[in-house]
Amino acid sequence: MGLLDGKVAFITGGSRGQGRAHAVTCAREGADVIIFDIAKPVVETAYKLASPEDHAETVRQVEALGRRVLAVEGDVRDQAALDAAVARGIEAFGHVDILIANAGIWTQNPFWELTEQQWEEMIGVNLTGVWKSAKAVAPHMIERKSGSIVITSSANGIEPGLNFAHYVSAKHGVIGLMKNIALELAPHGVRCNSINPGAIRTPMTAHQAAWDMFAGHEGGTEAEMIEGGYHYAALRNTSWLDPQAIADTALYLNSHLAANVTGVTIPVDAGHLLMTG
Ligand code: NAD
Repeated sequence: MGLLDGKVAFITGGSRGQGRAHAVTCAREGADVIIFDIAKPVVETAYKLASPEDHAETVRQVEALGRRVLAVEGDVRDQAALDAAVARGIEAFGHVDILIANAGIWTQNPFWELTEQQWEEMIGVNLTGVWKSAKAVAPHMIERKSGSIVITSSANGIEPGLNFAHYVSAKHGVIGLMKNIALELAPHGVRCNSINPGAIRTPMTAHQAAWDMFAGHEGGTEAEMIEGGYHYAALRNTSWLDPQAIADTALYLNSHLAANVTGVTIPVDAGHLLMTG
């Protein structure tokens, strides 16, 4: 018996990183999965966005667990693509019970040097993309009078972060959006919550440009980023968290265990916010 037996989960950014952990965890707990990911480098970032190979690997891992998977390549800024993917999911699996709005990007610049393009891409993907994803599933969930939406915010949805004001703005924004979605969907039996991951080791953060930025010099190291201050955590012996930590929290929120939980945001950061807040 899994916690999500018979459910169908729609996961944005599901090709790798936290999105893959969500997909595999949902499958392990009995859900069929729709992954929606851009899976190509359409936005200029210091790291590569997911590749078609990443996309295929998540499919392979879900299928290896004996669950069905629908893999869609698309951009969360594209409402028509999201709507079509949800419609294909309903056609294939009969219903969609869960949305994990996880797709995101991370770029850096002091706020006065951010280009309009960087600002608009960030807000477009990390904030508007979440609204569009929720908009795509809401009518179906309202009709079925059930559903659960989990939004990936960040510790930066609660605290600032040096040189990524646009990311901080989007991640604060999705918490407000989450609360409003929770309020508007509660009468329809649909829940909405969010998670604030701390430092999670994924391709978004485990690369040279991130280490340089947090170390404050070129040639920065992973150890400097983790131990040098910004990403310290209160719990002992903690450095990076594994994406599974976030998938486990989403699993709880999407399961019957959280049947009475809506409108809340849960930091999963080994106590990082305790140290900075
Ligand atoms: P990741 O880069 O490995 O995964 C992000 C996924 O989103 C990729 O597969 C990428 O291709 C996809 N994506 C990007 N833009 C897209 C678009 N326009 N449309 C569809 N898909 C798109 O990074 P991750 O760490 O797994 O990030 C997952 C979420 O967690 C993001 O929202 C991120 O902001 C958030 N987060 C990450 C950390 C961390 O330390 N890694 C901390 C806090 C919050």
